Amino acid sequence: LLRLDAVTVRFGERKALDGVDLEVAEHETVCVLGPSGSGKSTLLRAVAGLQPVDTGRILLGGADQTSVPTHRRGVGLMFQDHQLFPQRDVGGNVAFGLRMRGAARSEQERRVAELLDLVGLPGAGRRAVAALSGGEQQRVALARALAPSPRLLMLDEPLGQLDRTLRERLVVELRQLFGQLGTTVLAVTHDQGEAFALADRVVVMRDGRIAQVGTPLEVWQRPASAFVARFLGFDN
Ligand code: ATP
Ligand code: MG
Repeated sequence: LLRLDAVTVRFGERKALDGVDLEVAEHETVCVLGPSGSGKSTLLRAVAGLQPVDTGRILLGGADQTSVPTHRRGVGLMFQDHQLFPQRDVGGNVAFGLRMRGAARSEQERRVAELLDLVGLPGAGRRAVAALSGGEQQRVALARALAPSPRLLMLDEPLGQLDRTLRERLVVELRQLFGQLGTTVLAVTHDQGEAFALADRVVVMRDGRIAQVGTPLEVWQRPASAFVARFLGFDN
């Protein structure tokens, strides 16, 4: 579904992405791991069209997206600071992308109800977002990102703000949800445990390059380099 060919993004002298090649298959969940500053967010922003690339190509479903604007790429994005609209209620937040696309009101309402059920907040449409817990707000942000049925859902530290117990629970729920919906997911996380629980494959980044790609088991059992092994917390 997604293919990156030698994608490079420069900020001055520094390459935030340095010739990145990556493929994500339909229905696959790929998690991107790596130290701070290794280019994880830049990768997602480039795929979303929020970050222009200097060289290389980004293809979705075989079509070159490199110069296609964000709203025409058919991708959903959810950031760490999920930035719900505080003045809108839960339903208004979830309906945002549908309204932007000019969906009829009845269609918006049906879809909002369906998504709130899906993320475990049935009937919450009229609630104020300020009155929700952190975990509930994350679910609303997720429902908002899923609302326009993106062909690729991208999550940048989606559970970043939450406590350990809630994260662990949500990871299990997300995995089920993505399986059920057949969503293709590209997610960034700092947390290896989270990546290993969620991902079909993990990508380990270092200095704008891909240090290793593989199934969690492959990466865990056979780290490709001393860097990957150290990053995973092995001493040898
Ligand atoms: P973190 O885990 O801290 O979120 P990251 O892996 O997401 O890190 P990026 O945000 O992709 O890292 O940044 C990669 C590199 O590009 C860093 O060196 C960062 O300072 C630089 N960078 C990112 N965005 C910009 C920008 N808008 N202008 C200049 N430099 C940038
Ligand atoms: Mg980041």
